[in-house]
Amino acid sequence: IMEIIVQKFGGSSVANTDKLFNVCKHITKEKNKGNSVVVVVSAQGDTTDDLIKEENEITEKPNKREHDVLVSVGEQITIAKLAMCLQKQGYEAVSMLGWQVPIITDSNFGDANITKIKTGKILKELKTGKIVIIAGFQGIDSNSNITTLGRGGSDTTAIALASALKAKKCEIFTDVDGVYSEDPNKNENATKFDKLTYDKMLEMANNGAKVLHNKCVKLAKEKQVKIIVKSTFLEESVGTVVEK
Ligand code: ADP
Ligand code: ASP
Ligand code: MG
Repeated sequence: IMEIIVQKFGGSSVANTDKLFNVCKHITKEKNKGNSVVVVVSAQGDTTDDLIKEENEITEKPNKREHDVLVSVGEQITIAKLAMCLQKQGYEAVSMLGWQVPIITDSNFGDANITKIKTGKILKELKTGKIVIIAGFQGIDSNSNITTLGRGGSDTTAIALASALKAKKCEIFTDVDGVYSEDPNKNENATKFDKLTYDKMLEMANNGAKVLHNKCVKLAKEKQVKIIVKSTFLEESVGTVVEK
């Protein structure tokens, strides 16, 4: 019986090649323990913001379908590069876009909701020993249109996958070492939580604590997925556990 771990790395955690290799350490650590590892990544650094800026050079009212085709692009770059980094280190890895999984959503472009994840292909790859790297933030609707889940939506991809795969744990790696009472980058007196309930975390996410996407917290509560928020950059980060 495979123990599946889902790990998600946000944009600042994968911002350049050195950082991609740093992310490999977290992945291979779990893989070396004998776990099956599914990784979700965001676009590198400011890629998504840059795409939106370029879009705005053309129009401020983009066609919604084409908007999603454009802004979903960044994650494709990250999954390919990360798979190559792992392969370079002697690990077998395979990348998947949302439609390749597939991660099926409604047609609410720009803010789509995941309706179903078919896990067959992922499980098949995991069984052969591969690390599976999945593009966050994107899916496909019933008409084969590419959709995106709303800014910060890779968190939601990770939780939805953890639930669908019945993962043992879902780790959200980011640039801070957990969830704080306030944004630690804005208030140095903010204090870190070791543990938080879904409801408290949801309240914070709704009030703009972007450390976790609000949809991801809602989904985690509904599916009872335990979330661990921790630092990509600190070796022994204990982080914050979000559960009931
Ligand atoms: P990622 O790219 O990994 O998804 P985000 O930038 O979306 O990361 O979220 C992490 C950021 O959230 C932190 O750098 C921090 O500035 C901000 N943040 C806002 N509120 C909080 C909070 N209450 N606790 C922790 N981080 C917070
Ligand atoms: N790349 C997307 C964004 O910038 C999704 C994410 O980072 O979670 O919003
Ligand atoms: Mg985020």
